[in-house]
Amino acid sequence: MALVTFTGYPSSGKTHRAIQLKGHLDRRLTDPSYSGPKLKVIVLSDDALNIDRSSYNDSLLERTARGALFDAIQRQMGRDTILIIDALNYIKGLRYQLYCAAREFKLRVCTVYVVATPGLCRRWNSERSDGRGYTTETLDNLIARYEEPSSMVRWDSPLFTVPWSESDVPIELIWKAVTEGNVKPPNVGTQAVLKAPSDALHTLEQVSTLLQAVSGVPGGHVTLNLSETLKPRVTLPERSLTLSELQRMKRQFVTVHKKAITLGTVEKGTVDWSEESVAHKFIEYLENNKLIIINK
Ligand code: ADP
Ligand code: MG
Repeated sequence: MALVTFTGYPSSGKTHRAIQLKGHLDRRLTDPSYSGPKLKVIVLSDDALNIDRSSYNDSLLERTARGALFDAIQRQMGRDTILIIDALNYIKGLRYQLYCAAREFKLRVCTVYVVATPGLCRRWNSERSDGRGYTTETLDNLIARYEEPSSMVRWDSPLFTVPWSESDVPIELIWKAVTEGNVKPPNVGTQAVLKAPSDALHTLEQVSTLLQAVSGVPGGHVTLNLSETLKPRVTLPERSLTLSELQRMKRQFVTVHKKAITLGTVEKGTVDWSEESVAHKFIEYLENNKLIIINK
């Protein structure tokens, strides 16, 4: 239905505003006078995914964390949901990526820019008692790299700016944007972000978890119990496979296959996203990438 993207400096009050907004939306949607479609409001944030602030101290960890958030966002996008993304979204490219995914799902969009001065953010950050503060260095770094949103570009608009001095969010305007705003059709650029069906992602997750659990056994010949009928014998490396390398493989795999589907190049729409077939293709993919050997 709609995607509300928050953006703002670290510790600028994004979560505070997201809570205010969710409260308003929930009240309006359950009000007897509301006659629109039945909608639920979901807030996704680093905290909802247990992503620690220290991930922002390291660019590789940050990229992994962003990938996890984007995966979660794609899973939650839907016609019956108002999805609020309470995250830094500090790079233009990130906001553009969210916008493209939203168009793909035919969602209405808007951006909420939570503004506080760097000085206030530093103070609020240092005063936090919720364990969700950033280190001073990371905070300054993120502020320096922050790319301001603009109502002139399509992926940030409509844009609602909420300065720290405001007591509340502009609910009337946001409500109008999420319930009446234009829905733009996906364009050529966005069609490549088709998502795999969520059960396919779930299967990939299961295979990764299973592999990680059984890896690290010297001479590792194991049988992977993927399903009733799919139980391949594989040889694993002697070292333990890490969750992050498996996640990377998973993301690459999804990307490769999405391309194949949308461009009709390799498999020409015949990709079978059934559980078995996905699990099988994924372990073949891992073999091609020399992570495992499938014993014939
Ligand atoms: P973010 O989600 O952007 O990291 P939070 O909403 O968690 O920021 O706010 C960080 C800290 O700043 C919290 O302790 C909060 O109470 C305080 N804070 C946020 N917005 C304001 C505001 N407008 N005025 C005063 N304090 C605020
Ligand atoms: Mg927050």
